[in-house]
Order: sequence, then structure tokens, then C-alpha cells
Amino acid sequence: MALNIVMFGPPGAGKGTQASRLATEWGIPQISTGDILRGAVQAGTELGQRAKAILDAGELVSDEIMVGIVRQRLAEDDAKDGFILDGFPRTVAQASALDTILQGRDSLVVVELSVPDEELVSRLSRRRMCSSCGAIVGGQPTAVASSRCAACGGELVQRSDDQENVVRERLSVYHERTAPLVDFYSGRVSFRSLDGSQTPELVESAVSEAVDSAVRTTG
Ligand code: AMP
Repeated sequence: MALNIVMFGPPGAGKGTQASRLATEWGIPQISTGDILRGAVQAGTELGQRAKAILDAGELVSDEIMVGIVRQRLAEDDAKDGFILDGFPRTVAQASALDTILQGRDSLVVVELSVPDEELVSRLSRRRMCSSCGAIVGGQPTAVASSRCAACGGELVQRSDDQENVVRERLSVYHERTAPLVDFYSGRVSFRSLDGSQTPELVESAVSEAVDSAVRTTG
């Protein structure tokens, strides 16, 4: 059975960290739509040029563009045996398009990470990204001890959309556009909602347990 996972939650909830860990554990690709868009901005593609101002403002790129990107990515060979979507869907329209894209494939395991807003603002103000490999460092008070990436030595910078005014906008967009996904998914047997404000170790074991139990339910 292919393991098809959606991780959703507000910015700074730890989706990327958990998705990357699960991807390694299960040997399936992590598909981060934020990374895809930032890659396009950096490469200066047409998509990147259109998306840059939207990302900088903390708004959402259109459903049509995002669904097109994800449809194409999920058709690639490495996603046939499972995938983890990190940052998609972000609207109910995207979630229903995803159901259509996945028709005939194994059912989705949906994991929501929830964290209170003030904790997120504080986490994101401390978060840094490697300007070279894109690794995320921080969230924890002592995590950003150096200005260089431990993995590749690249310079650690603040993501432009992690500035407090943009973070507050991203949170408000989250509550308005993405939080309704809880209603969309909560009736499904493979939906799990977890407390993302616990320590990273506790979140990690809760996520693994949630995925294992959801797989047993659907498998
Ligand atoms: P993330 O790295 O997931 O926090 O995404 C960074 C930014 O990329 C978001 O604030 C949005 O502007 C854009 N983005 C990422 N994924 C989506 C999506 N599924 N729908 C619309 N915009 C997205």
C-alpha cells in the first residue's frame, strides 16, 4: 500500500520538520509547495516572477496555479509509491481538487498540527533558513547559535515572510482559508489532529503514532 500523507497546520507549526523526518523514515518524497515556489522565485522563472510578491505579502498563490503544480508533481514516478504533501492543500478548493487527482490511488492520511498563534509568532521570529540549501533552523530558543548552516556551511538568513507583520498576515490567511480544512477532513477515519506545541520529541512520536494508526485504519 502506498502511504499518501497530507500535513497541514499554520506557519511555524513544524510541518516541514515532521514531513522531512517521515519522508526519510518511509522512503517517500516530501513535496513542499512553499519550497517549490521559493525555488521558482530564486530561479527567476515565469512562475517565480508571478509568485514573488504574493509570497512576500504572506498571501496565497491562486488555487489554479497550485493545483496544476501539484497535479504534475504527483504524476512523477517517485510519488507513485507514496508522498508527503507539506503546505498543500491550503484551501478547501485545493483539497477537493486533490481528491480528484488521487482518484484510484490509496487513501490519504491527513495530519493536522495545531499551535497557538502567539507561540507561532515567537517561533517564526527566531527561525532562520539556509540561503544555500534551504534547511530550516530554529523555533527553539537556543537553536540559532551560529550564523552558518550546520549541514552545508551556507549563510543563515531570515525568510522575508518570517518578519512579524507578514507572519501575522499569514496567520490570518491561515485561519480564514486553511483552517476550514479541519471540517473538510475531520469525518475521515484517517484524519489525526495533534498538539504541535509540545516538545519536538513529543511531536515526533505523536506524528509517527498517528501515521501508524491511520495506516492500520485504512490498510
Ligand atoms: P510555506 O513554506 O508552506 O510556509 O509557504 C510559503 C508561501 O508559499 C505561503 O505563504 C504562500 O504564499 C505560498 N504557498 C505555499 N503553498 C501554497 C498553497 N498550497 N496555496 C497557495 N499558496 C501557497
